[in-house]
Amino acid sequence: MGRLAPSLRFPVTGSRGRRFPEREHPYRNPFQRDRDRIVHARAFRRLEDKTQVFPPDLSDHFRNRLTHTIEVAQIARTAANVLGLDEDLTEALALAHDIGHPPFAHAGEQELDRQMQRFGERFDHNLHALRIVESFEQRYAGFPGLNLTFEVREGIVKHSREIAPGETGGLEEYLPGLRPPLEAQLIDLADEIAYNTADLDDAYSAGFFTLDEAAAEIAGFRDAAAEVAREHAGAGERIRFHEILRRLIDRLVTGLIEGTVQAVEEARVRDVEDVRCHPCRLVRMTPESGALARELKSFLRRRVYESPPVLQERQRSVAAVAALFEYYLEDPARLPQPYARLAESGAPHRVICDYIAGMTDGFLRRTCQRLGL
Ligand code: MG
Repeated sequence: MGRLAPSLRFPVTGSRGRRFPEREHPYRNPFQRDRDRIVHARAFRRLEDKTQVFPPDLSDHFRNRLTHTIEVAQIARTAANVLGLDEDLTEALALAHDIGHPPFAHAGEQELDRQMQRFGERFDHNLHALRIVESFEQRYAGFPGLNLTFEVREGIVKHSREIAPGETGGLEEYLPGLRPPLEAQLIDLADEIAYNTADLDDAYSAGFFTLDEAAAEIAGFRDAAAEVAREHAGAGERIRFHEILRRLIDRLVTGLIEGTVQAVEEARVRDVEDVRCHPCRLVRMTPESGALARELKSFLRRRVYESPPVLQERQRSVAAVAALFEYYLEDPARLPQPYARLAESGAPHRVICDYIAGMTDGFLRRTCQRLGL
């Protein structure tokens, strides 16, 4: 395992800066300030009451989107530190990666997207996150939004996809056709490691499967279980499960670090510009850890995501989002201010979508209840 060349670390002094120029801070650099602004944003706090996968009424111990975000930041920072990348930029991006998430996990996102498609538009949580940090957060006198550096905004937009040359919709400034720096490329895989292992943990505690069932169906889990059985013969099942889980996290994070070092070496990129111009992303898992990640994912799909309790919850969520969208669409004057005013001058479906996307799960449920939906 080795660090990358220092020239592959995004230099904070090379930032393209903020949309509205600001005085420098005496002891925090621009990426550190961005991280702090994200932590102080309302959209960040709302993650506490947004479902990750499991509805909170089943247990007090499940991840929500805020605790998930903290886990992503922890994994991403570890990898950035070992690779010699900029930890502050990485952390800011990890903390921001889900702030555009609507209520009710992926079900909420898919339903908002479906509603928007009726009007020939889409809902994408990364683009929604950009709108939050560019304009919806109102807490500074000198500018709208959080006035984040270019690199953090670019990383938010390119979290899980590339921007094609010629793509429209206000994204032209974010270097279409170019890859984001390695710090930004890390987030997507750190996210995946965090949710695969956390969902396994939450689902195990909720009784979706036993340790033996996981060992029978996931080769990587079985190997780790054998190791734990040798090292901790007398431990109870729950402790053994957690010992297995920490080994899986370790293998995946190590695989991410080693896979990235290998890819960077093979691609012979020398600096951030080379990374940007390379035809594909260079942050990746080793083949072995990639195979483990796929195994976990397919087990979770079979045993958890497509299980009756999770599917029923998803249907309830979809129905609630759809009913609320319809209710406001029938008469946009029903929206609270300032949304009702915005809906008079702009496209009502867009305003309704923004309003609902900002809701926490709890607020959406209470709103539906109050309106008798
Ligand atoms: Mg996430």
